[in-house]
Formats: sequence, structure tokens, C-alpha cells
Amino acid sequence: MIEMIDVWKSYSNNVKAINGINIKIKKGEFVYVVGPSGAGKSTFIKMMYREEKPTKGDILIDEVNLSNMKEKEIPLLRRRIGVVFQDYKLLPTLSVYENVAFALEVIEEDPTVIKRKVMDVLEIVRLKNKARFLPSELSGGEQQRVAIARAIVNKPEVLIADEPTGNLDPDTAWEIMNILDDINHNGTTIVMATHNKDIVNTIKKRVLAIEGGRVVRDEVRGSYGYEA
Ligand code: ADP
Ligand code: ADP
Repeated sequence: MIEMIDVWKSYSNNVKAINGINIKIKKGEFVYVVGPSGAGKSTFIKMMYREEKPTKGDILIDEVNLSNMKEKEIPLLRRRIGVVFQDYKLLPTLSVYENVAFALEVIEEDPTVIKRKVMDVLEIVRLKNKARFLPSELSGGEQQRVAIARAIVNKPEVLIADEPTGNLDPDTAWEIMNILDDINHNGTTIVMATHNKDIVNTIKKRVLAIEGGRVVRDEVRGSYGYEA
């Protein structure tokens, strides 16, 4: 369902971030993206939701080619792809409930449907009891759970996570990982860039290692392969 065909990306400062990547990710897969800092992991991930455009090559999400997608088609794409970041990116003045509802309000979903969908995803991330809290009143792990709820509330086919456990202590990182694993078992394809060696080596999944903007390793049930 995700395919990159001879994808290259240079930034305007001439940094060559991605240098000829060919990959296929099937529906329902869970893929870890690993590699040293500066290897191109974030660029690789950002191109999947059209935050960055490849300089050359094609990126297909199902039949849709992101490389020649028009600006006005991007919002529709973003509804099919949920994104979670290392720093959560919640709206600080909105409650947990409102942060999650926001994604549905912008598409003018019916209010009773919004309420049901928001409470359903807050149940999945076990935060129903904190629906009225502000992000600043939550722990880092709880904030990341809100961000995950927001990312899945539109029922995306793909969930993309860029170092989702990067700011969390080990126990909390495991909690987040277990939620992502549940979401994957529910049918959502997950692509996750990570530096968390313990998680990659314990919950075995496909591992794509990127170095110098190229895939240097692609293993079905891989290991982290770097020092922590
Ligand atoms: P990683 O996520 O593996 O750390 P990145 O994709 O962030 O790697 O970066 C790959 C390379 O591209 C690095 O050399 C980085 O400095 C460069 N880079 C990333 N983003 C930009 C940008 N917006 N403009 C210019 N260069 C960038
Ligand atoms: P609805 O409220 O419209 O019935 P669902 O609860 O079926 O919505 O699903 C909303 C999204 O939440 C789905 O796309 C899926 O990614 C995720 N999801 C649904 N159920 C689970 C579950 N049991 N575990 C993990 N993720 C789930």
C-alpha cells in the first residue's frame, strides 16, 4: 500500500538527504525505521505524508501518487494518514477532548458522531477520565496518548510515528509501544522511526535501516543493529 520507486530528495541547501530508495510496505505491516542521526529517517517519513516532496521518483499510497499530487488534495491525504511526533504537538489551550475533536470538526463531522468517535479513541488510549484536562496537566506519556488518539480518530489506513518514545522514560515508552501494537493488530499499517533499541529488539517487526539516505538493511523480523 506504500511504495517508493527510485526516490531522491535534496534540500535547497544541496544536502542530499535521500539517495535512491525503493521500498514496498504492505497493508497491516509494522515497520521500524532505524539509523544514525542525520541518516534521512525524518525526511523519509515526511515524504510519506507530503510534508516534504521528493526531488525525483514516485511515492504511491495505494493508487495515489504523492509526487504529482495537487496542493488541494493534501488535506484528503492527511485524513488517510495519521501522524505522531516526538514532541506531541498538542494545542496547549485546548482540552484533551478538544484536541482530538479538532480533526473531526475541521471536516464538519456531525456533533454526535464527533462525541462518540472521540470517546471511543480516548478509551483505546485509556484517557477517558482525563478528557477535560489541558495538555499541561498531563504527563509526557499521557500527552503522547492524546496525540495518538488524535492521529487515529479519522480511522487512517496508515499511522506514521517519528520517534514517538524519544522524550519518554522506558516504562512510559513501553506503554506507548503497546498501544501502537494494539492499533496495528486492529489493521492499521504503522511506520515508526525510532532510536529505542530495547523496543526494536523485543517487539520484533520489520526493520528498515537507513544510512546516508539509502536503505542499507531490510529485515522481516529484524534487530536494531546499532549501539543504543
Ligand atoms: P534523521 O531523521 O535520520 O536524523 P533527517 O532526515 O532529519 O535525518 O536529515 C537528513 C539530512 O538532511 C541531514 O543532513 C539534515 O541535516 C538534512 N536536513 C533535514 N532537514 C533539512 C531541511 N529542512 N533543510 C536542509 N537540510 C535538511
Ligand atoms: P468508530 O468510532 O467510527 O467505530 P473505531 O473505533 O472503529 O471507530 O476506529 C477508530 C480508529 O481507531 C481506527 O482506525 C483504528 O485505527 C483505531 N482502533 C479502533 N479500534 C481499535 C482497537 N481496539 N485497538 C486499537 N486501535 C483501534
